[in-house]
Amino acid sequence: MAAKKILVVEDEQAIREMIAFHLSRAGYGVIEASDCREAREAIADDRPDLALVDWMLPDISGLELTRMLKREKDYEDLAIIMLTARAEERDKVTGLEGGADDYITKPFSPRELVARIQAVLRRSGSANDEVVSAGVLELDTAGHRVMSLGKEIKLGPTEYRLLNFLMTHPERVYSRTQLLDRVWGANVYVEERTVDVHVRRLRKALADAKADAYIQTVRGAGYRFSTRDV
Ligand code: CA
Repeated sequence: MAAKKILVVEDEQAIREMIAFHLSRAGYGVIEASDCREAREAIADDRPDLALVDWMLPDISGLELTRMLKREKDYEDLAIIMLTARAEERDKVTGLEGGADDYITKPFSPRELVARIQAVLRRSGSANDEVVSAGVLELDTAGHRVMSLGKEIKLGPTEYRLLNFLMTHPERVYSRTQLLDRVWGANVYVEERTVDVHVRRLRKALADAKADAYIQTVRGAGYRFSTRDV
């Protein structure tokens, strides 16, 4: 099984690198971000299994970031552990109410950090490891693969993310703007017609499996994934 990916969101470089060092040694894949903007990009691009979020960040607070992510359907499965120097009980409660799965007070030992991460990943279960099936398609989110009747369909990273999003949100129309936000990330500037380009590539890749018709254009509205009326 692929290593679980942990995103470390911390603006203090020395602490971030120390954490990254210990997590890599413990066998995790590590992604680093020094503020919320970078964190959001990393979450959209790298799909971490868990985010360690420092409370005090330079742009918006780690608590706000946590709240924001937990409100988004796409990221609700992302486990979040808040890191903080605030040792007070009420801060802990605020952090957990904000949607964090756990809360660690600085200073902490690497051993404690790894133990808490393991516990949270165990609790959050294999929500990220499912296989999503629709029609002839099977999307293996753990293996990052798309299969059709036992054959792998090769997709570029953006096409994979687009298909992943659409397959996990079927029968709903998404506008180009919504798809840009959900698949490319809210802070990335790309033109709306970029969506059309990737939809075209995705359909082309799905054509052999006769699954291209699942990606439906809804005139004046956007795109929908559906295996009905195909
Ligand atoms: Ca900080």
